Amino acid sequence: MSDKNEIVTAYTIQQCNSCKEQSKRKFSDGDYVFKEISKCSSCDGQIIVTKIFGESLTR
Ligand SMILES: [Zn+2]
Repeated sequence: MSDKNEIVTAYTIQQCNSCKEQSKRKFSDGDYVFKEISKCSSCDGQIIVTKIFGESLTR
């Protein structure tokens, strides 16, 4: 066990392919880049995952 308690949280960036509206949310199981998430709520576009990254917080 190490003294450092590092917590890595993964985030998913998703973006509409039509209006380019982008949002960030916590990564959920099964996410991958270019995965189709849902229909956009503000246009008829498709929201897809554009990026997955992790942020580490040291406590
Ligand atoms: Zn849209």
